[in-house]
Amino acid sequence: MAIKNVWFITDDLSAIGELAAGARKLGEHVTAVLFSEQDQAKEAIACGADQVYLFKKTEGSFIEGYSKEIAGLIRAEQAGLVMVYSSASGRLIAGRIASQLETSAISNVSDLYIEDDHVVAEHMVYGGLALRKEKALSDTVVLTVGLGVFEANAKDESREGKVTEITGEAENAGIKVIEIRPKQGETVNLKVAKKVVGVGRGFANEEDLKMAEDLASATGAELACSRPIAEGEKWMGKERYVGVSGAVLKPDVYVAIGISGQIQHMVGVNDAKTIVAINKDKNAPIFKQADIGLVGDLYTVLPKITEKLKA
Ligand SMILES: Cc1cc2nc3c(=O)[nH]c(=O)nc-3n(C[C@H](O)[C@H](O)[C@H](O)COP(=O)(O)OP(=O)(O)OC[C@H]3O[C@@H](n4cnc5c(N)ncnc54)[C@H](O)[C@@H]3O)c2cc1C
Repeated sequence: MAIKNVWFITDDLSAIGELAAGARKLGEHVTAVLFSEQDQAKEAIACGADQVYLFKKTEGSFIEGYSKEIAGLIRAEQAGLVMVYSSASGRLIAGRIASQLETSAISNVSDLYIEDDHVVAEHMVYGGLALRKEKALSDTVVLTVGLGVFEANAKDESREGKVTEITGEAENAGIKVIEIRPKQGETVNLKVAKKVVGVGRGFANEEDLKMAEDLASATGAELACSRPIAEGEKWMGKERYVGVSGAVLKPDVYVAIGISGQIQHMVGVNDAKTIVAINKDKNAPIFKQADIGLVGDLYTVLPKITEKLKA
């Protein structure tokens, strides 16, 4: 049984394709809630939305300020499922909408389907040690979804849909904008990378990461790391660490170098098609999950592998 009305809400253009595909898969009629751009509305319709509410965000406002209005529309149109993209603002908006609808929000869903006429959501708990399966019983189910849960369908530019622009002021979200500055650091979207080289504490110095960079550039891979490399050493940006509290990836190949393979890291690469591990400790837990394991000192083996790949 499909759900009659499925909604998705996103403030990030890159999530439209996947959320629209997920909504289409689960629902008969799909509504998108987007913020600011007319082009995004066209994109959402091409990806599968039947109607779009386009909130024209005013300067200095926050999308969570529209929560009450969005909840009112959801209530009026009796949406059965509301999927919110799990960006920082998305998580806030999901909580606010759920409270308006007198329900709760299920966060960071990793799988979503219908069983016995109810929405069933799976998500990680206990820092990635367990997977909880929840059958939602409320009239409207609110949850947050990241990238990688659904696969985007091919766009159909000939699809038509209704676009409703909403221009009102956002409610004050309790935050005042004092200054807007561009975010420092890099932008990287590891979630779409097909090849990823991950580095861990096996690297003794920041300069030594050059060896991993060389391997990544020789193979066209993105660089990622374990949490201590980003949060502790600060050798890489936070957007590059993988795991339960970082990015969850789905690459074809993940090469883990000097990474022990703790569960909190590995839940971020469980869906990699092939895991290659290089570690000098033959008892490192990562070897239990690796498809290809190389026991060796990275300082000896890594330059040799890169040299071979470049030849
Ligand atoms: C609530 C919570 C959330 C967490 N979330 C995350 C998360 O999202 N992502 C994450 O990554 N971690 C997370 N952690 C931390 C996680 O538990 C591990 O501590 C971390 O992943 C370990 O990083 P590492 O493998 O780089 O370092 P280590 O565990 O110190 O492992 C280093 C490895 O390098 C090997 N090595 C050393 N020298 C060499 C050499 N010369 N050549 C080859 N191998 C060598 C060692 O044998 C060892 O296996 C979390 C922890 C908690 C408590």
